[in-house]
Amino acid sequence: MLAFTKIDRINASKRGVMGRIKDFKEVYEVFDENKAAEQAERCIGCGDPYCHNKCPLHNIIPAWLKQTAEKDMEMAFNISNETSPFPEILGRICPHDVLCEGDCTLNDTHGAITIGSVETFITETGFDNGLIPKFALEKIGKKVAIIGSGPAGLSAATFLLREGVDVEIFERASKAGGLLTYGIPGFKLDKHRIQRRVDFLIEAGAKVTLNCEIGKDKSFDDLNEEFDAVFIGIGATKGKMPGLDGEANSNVHLAMDFLTKVQKKEFNEEVTNYIDVKDKNVVVIGGGDTAMDCVRTSVREGAKDVKCLYRRDEINMPGSKKEVDNSKEEGVEFVFNVSPVSINENGILLEKTELTTSDETGRQKVKIVENSQYLQEADIVILALGFDQELPQFIKDSSLELDKWNGIKVNQDYSTSIKNIYSGGDSVRGADLAVTATLDGREAAKTIIASFK
Ligand code: SF4
Repeated sequence: MLAFTKIDRINASKRGVMGRIKDFKEVYEVFDENKAAEQAERCIGCGDPYCHNKCPLHNIIPAWLKQTAEKDMEMAFNISNETSPFPEILGRICPHDVLCEGDCTLNDTHGAITIGSVETFITETGFDNGLIPKFALEKIGKKVAIIGSGPAGLSAATFLLREGVDVEIFERASKAGGLLTYGIPGFKLDKHRIQRRVDFLIEAGAKVTLNCEIGKDKSFDDLNEEFDAVFIGIGATKGKMPGLDGEANSNVHLAMDFLTKVQKKEFNEEVTNYIDVKDKNVVVIGGGDTAMDCVRTSVREGAKDVKCLYRRDEINMPGSKKEVDNSKEEGVEFVFNVSPVSINENGILLEKTELTTSDETGRQKVKIVENSQYLQEADIVILALGFDQELPQFIKDSSLELDKWNGIKVNQDYSTSIKNIYSGGDSVRGADLAVTATLDGREAAKTIIASFK
C-alpha cells in the first residue's frame, strides 16, 4: 500500500530518437512483467478512485492494477477487457495525463501510476499468452448494421457481438479502423493492433464490408430495411479553416489530409496529390494532439525544419504533454504566443499574442500585441485547428434530425429521430477523443441490445 514511497513512477521505455525518427514504428515499448507489477503496486487503492471516474469508460483501474501487482494476469486481462473493447489501443493513444493519470491521487506528490502503460501491458501479455476476447457463443437472431469502423463503430460491434447480436460493418475505406488506422500515426499505434481486433470481430461472426460508401454503393433505406437496427459512427473529419487570406494556397494543407496520405503511402495504397515535405520548411498551426502527430510525421518524412505555432503558452496547450515532449525530443521547434494573420507563398504573417487575466470560465483570453507582425518563412503550412462535421449525402437526404453544429442529434440513450437508428462518437459530439467515441459505441450497443428484449 505504501510502495509509492519507495518506488518511483517510471514511464515505459522509448526508442532512441535517432532511430525512431527514421520510421513509423511505435516509439514506446511495452513493460515487462516485473516492471508492470512494480508500477501497479504503487497504486494506493483509493476508496473513491478519481482515475476510474475520470476515465470516460470508467475502467475499473484499481482492480486491474491490483491483479497486475499480484501477477494474476488472466484476471487482470478479464477485468480490463470487460469495460473496454480494446484496452491495448486506448492504453497507447489516450491523453492519460489529462484523463486517468491526471486525476490519480499520487499525481501531484509522487507521480501518477503509469495507468496507460500498465493497461497496454495487460492485454498485450494476455494475447502473448493465448488469451482472447470473449464473445457470445449463441446468436439471438438480431442483426445490426454499423456505418463506419472507427473507434465508435468497432466498440459498438464488440459489445453487440458479446451479446450474440450479428453485426455487419460498412466502411468506405479499404481498411477498417477509421481514425485509428488512417489518422493516428504508426509511431503511436502500430496498425496491426487494429487489424488484430478486427480479426477477433470477424472470428466472432462480424461481416466487414470495405470500400462501401453508404448512399452510393448501398442505400441507407436498404440498410434500415435489412437490419434490425443501424449504428452510425462516421466521425468528424473536415478540418477547420481559420478564415485567413491565402489559406486556399497550394502550400496550405489540412492536418487529416496530410496524415491520411502519409498513412496510405505507408500501406502502399494509391495516393493522389501526395504532400511531400522532404527537405521543406514545415509549419504546423495548432496545439493539440493532431498538431503533434503532424509535426512528428513531418520529421519522419524528412522535412528540413519543423515548427509548431500556438497562440497561447505551453501550459495552455490542449494536447497531451507527453506528445509535446516527444515532439521536442524529435527536433520540433515550438513558437508560442503567436497568431496567424495571412499566408502567402513565402510563409505566414504572424502577430504576437499575450494572455490576459482569466475570464469567468477560468481560461485566459488571447490579446494581440500591437505592431508585432512578422513573417515566419514556410514552404508548407499544415492547419491542425480541429474538426467540423462533414455529413455525407445519405445523412443530408435522410430525415435524421441534426443539432445546431450539424451533428446527428441523439437522445441520452443514443437513439436518433428515426426509429432503430442510433449514433455516437464524433458524428454526434463533434471532434473529441477516441476514448469518448469508444464509450458512445459501448453505450449505444447496450441501448440497442435492450431494445431487442
Ligand atoms: Fe486511462 Fe484512457 Fe485507459 Fe481510461 S481508456 S484508463 S482514460 S488510458
